[in-house]
Amino acid sequence: MGLYLNIILSILVVMLIALLVFRQRQIRQIRPLSDLEKILGKLQKNLLTNRTEGKIQKVAGQISEILTDDLGADRILFFRKQRRFMEMNYVYGLKNIKRGKYRIKLSNPLIRELTAEKLVRRPSALAGLLGNELNELLEQERFNIVFPIFWMNNIFGVYFISTHLPVDHPLIKTLLMFLNQNLAAAYQIKRLESALNLPDSKPAELSEPDETGTTKNRPGREVEEYPGHLIEIFAHRNVDELLTNLFDRIKVGLQAKRLVFMSPKTSTREDGFKYALGFGGEDFFFNGDEYEQIFGELQGRQGNPLDNAVDVPNQDGLNNRLHKYGLNKLTSFSLTEGEPGMLLWAGRDEKSGSETRLLSRFERVGRRAMINALEFERLEEMSYTDSLTRLYNHRYFVKRLSEEIQRAVRYHRGLGLLLFDIDDFKLYNDNFGHQWGDELLRRMGMTLTRSLRSIDIISRYGGDEFCIIMPEADKMTCEIFMERLRQAISSTDFRDQANGFEGRITISVGCALFPNDADNAERLIYYADMALFHSKDMGRNRSTLFTPEILK
Ligand code: GH3
Ligand code: MG
Repeated sequence: MGLYLNIILSILVVMLIALLVFRQRQIRQIRPLSDLEKILGKLQKNLLTNRTEGKIQKVAGQISEILTDDLGADRILFFRKQRRFMEMNYVYGLKNIKRGKYRIKLSNPLIRELTAEKLVRRPSALAGLLGNELNELLEQERFNIVFPIFWMNNIFGVYFISTHLPVDHPLIKTLLMFLNQNLAAAYQIKRLESALNLPDSKPAELSEPDETGTTKNRPGREVEEYPGHLIEIFAHRNVDELLTNLFDRIKVGLQAKRLVFMSPKTSTREDGFKYALGFGGEDFFFNGDEYEQIFGELQGRQGNPLDNAVDVPNQDGLNNRLHKYGLNKLTSFSLTEGEPGMLLWAGRDEKSGSETRLLSRFERVGRRAMINALEFERLEEMSYTDSLTRLYNHRYFVKRLSEEIQRAVRYHRGLGLLLFDIDDFKLYNDNFGHQWGDELLRRMGMTLTRSLRSIDIISRYGGDEFCIIMPEADKMTCEIFMERLRQAISSTDFRDQANGFEGRITISVGCALFPNDADNAERLIYYADMALFHSKDMGRNRSTLFTPEILK
């Protein structure tokens, strides 16, 4: 009897230890919040490379991995939309679940809630819309985050997760939005594929028009035969790449020797969009007045504008250019709802119904693709913004510094890197509290943005440290700017009646130059940092330009 008891006790002890080790490993797996920026980078890359593949399984797998390994989710439920219901499609960390029991009825209020602006929240916010059984399960298993997978008004599914991370952390929100984008894009592409009746999207090579502007195929035929091109366009996540691809395809489809697209005023780009293809190295565009005249001509026409060659009344110079390049066809072509755009090309003279069909098809897909790509650019920008100061964050700084260094090498130019750090910021925090410290950083962000050249790039390096990349700056410019900045901050009135702060804020600045001081990014940062340390060492509230002597 005693022996059995001993054996049972030993087994229990071993199991307990195993359980503890397992928990410990689980806890250790969870990454700190600061690593989220790296995950964002990874996701961004995924989103860009997933492109045309639209492999739902693959993307969903990546998402589960990020949720469990990076966000430390120990329970996940994913419901996928099937007609008027959402069915439990993926379960992690829960045993013996009867999937059918937890169907979610897809009511209009629920769709509205899920596709509304507020993307990430606690499941309790949706309690009335999920049904009692699911609510009970979510509560019992302490699910604390819900986020939808949707695009525009199309809902594809919804995730519930249980994690130790705070729902309202801005980085978590951005990250979950990226997850949504990744998966929603895959679903969208799939949707489009089935709408176009494509088992697999495989863009075929198109034959380019030869010197005389003709191909063996009839115009429009390629697009009719290989709608995969439309999907390829749709899958772009970068507006410029998307439009280059789109107009390339249109040019080939129309068998046009040359093509110009212009949409000079849009809500998303101050200077609009311009694409000129087939002009060799020449940068062929119209100026604003010419655009107005040609567009006016287009609007004044009745019937099919494709039928007529372009001739703008009383505009010999403009007409000469149009004739010189054989730009004989014109139509309105708009890529953003309600915003005018126009397409001109050097095409065949005779009428063609297939041209109209081709253009309207590309216009439709182009518009949807634009919404997608613009949304992605918005997300991208968010992921590069420091949520406290609204300046760029460290991740953006690293990316941009390497780009600017490459550019400096290419054009044989210099570049200045300036680092600065608030003096005795800890004291400020200690005296007034962290919240007021945050407020000061925020105000510092606004002051800084105001005192820069438009080409300078400022980011929050971390904590109370900031950095400024100064393209094309030489030693003298940097020296003058450092002092100007230091004085600007020390003379700014950061007085705060709300907390009684009356003093002034000072900063210490350091700067190093590429390529004079350092010929790569790491060294440049290191030397700028050393110069900053020197300023601190010499008593703070001063600026130092790097020299090898300060290393001694
Ligand atoms: P020094 O003059 O040497 O720069 O002294 P310091 O007190 O400014 O200290 P240091 O730059 O080494 O440390 C920065 C401090 O800034 C540490 C931390 O208390 C505070 N800090 C860092 N990030 C934040 C933040 O996001 N919000 C607030 N309120 N404080 C922060
Ligand atoms: Mg400091």
